Amino acid sequence: MKKKSEKKYITAKFTLIELLIVISIITILAGLLLPALKNAREKVLQIECQNKMKQMASAVIMYSVDFGGYGPAGDAVANGLFIRDVAGGIAAYLNVKGELLNFSNTVVPPVAICSKGGRYGGTDPSSFNMSYGLNTYLVQTYSGELKRVKNAAGRMLGATIGIDDWANLDTPAHGSGAWARNRMGCRHFKGGIFSYVDGHVNWLKYENIPLDHYDASDPTNFYKEY
Ligand SMILES: [Zn+2]
Repeated sequence: MKKKSEKKYITAKFTLIELLIVISIITILAGLLLPALKNAREKVLQIECQNKMKQMASAVIMYSVDFGGYGPAGDAVANGLFIRDVAGGIAAYLNVKGELLNFSNTVVPPVAICSKGGRYGGTDPSSFNMSYGLNTYLVQTYSGELKRVKNAAGRMLGATIGIDDWANLDTPAHGSGAWARNRMGCRHFKGGIFSYVDGHVNWLKYENIPLDHYDASDPTNFYKEY
């Protein structure tokens, strides 16, 4: 008896149109997914940067506890702070290798360089190519009594620095210790990172960064009276 019918296997072939549809769907999906991945990667770098700043803020605070409430004295904003222990720097309070504590050594420790670059661009650790500065009213030019600062949670201790007089949107660069908006290094999502006298750290969108440095210094209302 003859079989009713041989089971037929259809050998499916994609038509050109179907293929194009599949390709365009993949393209659309990739287009949706890639920015999200890029964003996630950027976020990781931002968090890493904030952690570095937090470590440095903690180092300054620990230093001040050991030195009667006073912040470290940097010879030129950040120069002495990260590497020159001789100038009263904070290197000893960071996880910095012994050889970097040498006064004549101009190598910047990794904790002081953003992965997106230092003030001279790139991540070359020589020539003081750091990415962060400290409020000079606290560590250099003013008397620097951290324990007596009014509103410690609102007073800037450190910030990401950029190149002088640049609008530092996403540029790895440096500014001379000022907190003015156009001198900040805004390397992450077009924003800068600040640390505060109480030790906390936050990210501020470029537009929300103070226009001048008054918020950082404000010497008339800086310290609590004894
Ligand atoms: Zn960074």
